[in-house]
Amino acid sequence: MGEAKVFCEDCGALTPNMGANLCADCYLRYRDDYVTVRNYVKQKQAPTVLEASTTTGVSVRRIQKMVRERMISIKEA
Ligand SMILES: [Zn+2]
Repeated sequence: MGEAKVFCEDCGALTPNMGANLCADCYLRYRDDYVTVRNYVKQKQAPTVLEASTTTGVSVRRIQKMVRERMISIKEA
C-alpha cells in the first residue's frame, strides 16, 4: 500500500486523501458542514436534501456527497 493521493473534490489540490476525497483543509470544512446538516436532520422529521440545503446553507451537491458516503440518511428529492 503506497500513499494514495487524490485530487481534492473541493479545491482540486493533489493531496493525500483525508477522507471523502478531500484535502486536510477541505475535509475540516466538510466535517463542519456535516455536523450542521446532521443537527438539522435530527431536529426535523425527514427533510429533503433541498430543504436541508436551503436551511443550513450547505450545497445540495455536498449533502448528496454525505448521503453517498453514508454519513447521513435523507430523502433525495
Ligand atoms: Zn481541498
